[in-house]
Amino acid sequence: MRTHFRLPKRSLIALLFLFSLSSSAMYFIYSAPGTVNEYLFMVQAQSIQFRKNVRTIGAQVYEQVVRGAYSNGTDYPFEFNLSEPYVQTTTFLPEGFTYLPNETCPERLPSMKGPVDINMSEISMGEVEQSLMGDSGIMLGGHWKPQDCVPRWKVAILVPFRNRHEHLPVLFRHLIPALQRQRLHFAFYVIEQAGTHTFNRAMLFNVGFLEAMKDLDWDCVIFHDVDHILENDRNYYGCGDMPRHFAVKLNKYSYLLPYEEFFGGVSGLTVEQYRKVNGFPNAFWGWGGEDDDLWNRVQNAGYNVSRPQGDIGRYMSIPHHHRGEVQFLGRYTLLRRSKERQSLDGLNNLKYLPQVTRKPLYSNITVNLTPELAPVSDY
Ligand code: UDP
Ligand code: BGC
Ligand code: MN
Repeated sequence: MRTHFRLPKRSLIALLFLFSLSSSAMYFIYSAPGTVNEYLFMVQAQSIQFRKNVRTIGAQVYEQVVRGAYSNGTDYPFEFNLSEPYVQTTTFLPEGFTYLPNETCPERLPSMKGPVDINMSEISMGEVEQSLMGDSGIMLGGHWKPQDCVPRWKVAILVPFRNRHEHLPVLFRHLIPALQRQRLHFAFYVIEQAGTHTFNRAMLFNVGFLEAMKDLDWDCVIFHDVDHILENDRNYYGCGDMPRHFAVKLNKYSYLLPYEEFFGGVSGLTVEQYRKVNGFPNAFWGWGGEDDDLWNRVQNAGYNVSRPQGDIGRYMSIPHHHRGEVQFLGRYTLLRRSKERQSLDGLNNLKYLPQVTRKPLYSNITVNLTPELAPVSDY
């Protein structure tokens, strides 16, 4: 049966008005500080949802028009596919799979069940140590590697840190068992910023990278916010041919990617890729922009970013207040010059004096950061 569908003119005007509202929200998003950003991304997420619905309605209207125009009304020439791209079901190995100590660990192990049980309640580091140190084979500094197969990747997990002591054990409680289920060789490096200077997440990652490489010949490095808890253990923390963005869908952004170039939260590069892009920029003091600059660097070096599919890239962030951190207002100026600054500022112009302490579950690298440690001659 044919249905005739007409959209009244007034609704069209209302729709156009809503579209223009959502694009002005987009404009604000790029000029707002951390907390405001979160709120605006929520609004944006809702407007994406709204647009998706409108698109679906629009396509249905179009479909009716096409159907109506088609004379016999049954033989339908177009194929509409409005759903998300079909995600191939991954083949994870069966429960009884036996590993061989001299063969590479598979990437899709039976131990990787998918959704992770999340427990955000506060816990002390001592308690997490107690629960993990037993017979799980974790060595000083949080070093661990599987014994039943040869790990595919040697992964250094870097965590930038200052005054978030209650977050760290919550992160370890979830991430360490997940990485063990993934049969990766790993260790944790918490790079703690000392001194009174504004926080510099990117410079801490550069310090962490150089220090971790002195500790072991890692081949993959993960840049991990302390407050991001993975929700799915099939989010495999190995690297690949392309830099990877792991934290695709965050609960604080209604599980929608806030923008295509978003590279924040948790990302990973091979050691070779990280050296090739000259690491993170050192010049981003305060909140925001350093992850966008890494995205630019990666593109400039000719890479694309890969991401886990579907809901595998879901994360929950531990709720927190911003404790006096300031947003970095100069980020747009620097971001416009990402390309020319890439070879001038990064791994290659950084000097620092670290204090390294080995803890049961991680290495602590404490460092006092100031802009003089990473001079850029042309600026
Ligand atoms: N961070 C920290 N102390 C600070 C600011 C940031 O340890 O005072 C680290 C921490 O790993 C955090 C990450 O930098 O997860 C990103 O900062 P923040 O959580 O403030 O960013 P947002 O939540 O706004 O994305
Ligand atoms: C900032 C990024 C941040 C993103 C999401 C952007 O405006 O530049 O650093 O990760 O918002 O909060
Ligand atoms: Mn946070």
